[in-house]
Amino acid sequence: MRIMPNTKSLILLVGFAACGFFADRGGVSAADKNQACVETLWPAAKASGITRETFDRAFQGFTPDPEVVEMANYQPEYVKPIGEYIDRVVSDKRIETGKQKLIENKALLDQLEAKYGVDRHILVAIWGVESNFGTQPGDKNIIRSLGTLYCTGTKAKFAKPQIVTALKILQHGDINLEGMNGSWAGAMGHTQFIPTTYIRFAVDQDGDGKRDIWDNVPDALGSTASYLRVSKWQPGQTWGYEVSVPKGVDPKKVNPSTMKTLGDWQKLGFVRVNGEAFPRPNDKATLFSPEGARGPSFLVLNNFRAILHYNTATSYALAVGHLADRLRGDGPFVHPWPTDETHLNLEQRTQLQQLLIAKGLLTGDADGVIGPATLEAVKSYQRSKGLPVDGFPTQTILKDLQAGG
Ligand code: CA
Repeated sequence: MRIMPNTKSLILLVGFAACGFFADRGGVSAADKNQACVETLWPAAKASGITRETFDRAFQGFTPDPEVVEMANYQPEYVKPIGEYIDRVVSDKRIETGKQKLIENKALLDQLEAKYGVDRHILVAIWGVESNFGTQPGDKNIIRSLGTLYCTGTKAKFAKPQIVTALKILQHGDINLEGMNGSWAGAMGHTQFIPTTYIRFAVDQDGDGKRDIWDNVPDALGSTASYLRVSKWQPGQTWGYEVSVPKGVDPKKVNPSTMKTLGDWQKLGFVRVNGEAFPRPNDKATLFSPEGARGPSFLVLNNFRAILHYNTATSYALAVGHLADRLRGDGPFVHPWPTDETHLNLEQRTQLQQLLIAKGLLTGDADGVIGPATLEAVKSYQRSKGLPVDGFPTQTILKDLQAGG
């Protein structure tokens, strides 16, 4: 479970820590300031049953990690189009490795499918996307990463409960401090669980008494299956289908929240790109056209939403679903992604938000980060103008707004 640094919702989590800590000012040393910040965590830790010994050992010699600060404040100038993202994530190499992993872990995957009802291809696809099958789980100490987010004021509100929970995990002995590694944002191990997800959903699949998502494949894949199951994964259903949109229908004109059975979509002329019938015509689906009429369209089912529990980006869920299909032996998307659309740059995205704020359609600050709030604001604008409602922030919409529309 990664945090998406480019979602506006996360920006809401940003707070100011009690103190900030790189400069050495006013005669107080940086080390003293770091220790003073760490100490502000102690009351919450103590209240959660953390011993002083665990606390002191975890924070001994703590200094903020400058790389974590850099990553936390990184604002991409250019958000990659979804097609580029999918191509990078669902690479030929990853498909090949994933197929090997399916064979190597067949007995385990048999057990997990039986116990949790979660499709093995999805489990292996998530493993591949999250940590490249455990080869890239992140090498940063989690206490230091989260301590940095807390003590430097970036994502402090997010970091505090994660730190307290990480201390609980250490105290319980599932992992030691040296082994508790992960990403700059606090996502750990093969599964990239943040501490609060770990403590609720990680499982001890191999039965050795420890829930080891860092170095134990059965525990890692079992934990992913456990988390998907509680995220309401529906056994026997897939995540979605690429479809051909009937001639004369602009996918942008279909309300993306409209849910119909696959059979009803088919009556409207939406058919699978391989020409076959939907295997379960009574399953309900919504239409998902990430690039509108310019790119492929998908009918997505409940399990697509289960994947979104793992990571809230629709591009992520589509990458996982597609990688799973490729591992099963299906081919690439039939309809190509657009290559000619000029996406808004950071300055244009910021201006778009400023104009939406001025119209009363968006609240908060214009930061150029297109997240759920901005997409909803674009949809409101499109509705008010009688335009196709897809939330896609285009040059045309920006020009309309600039012209006072
Ligand atoms: Ca175990």
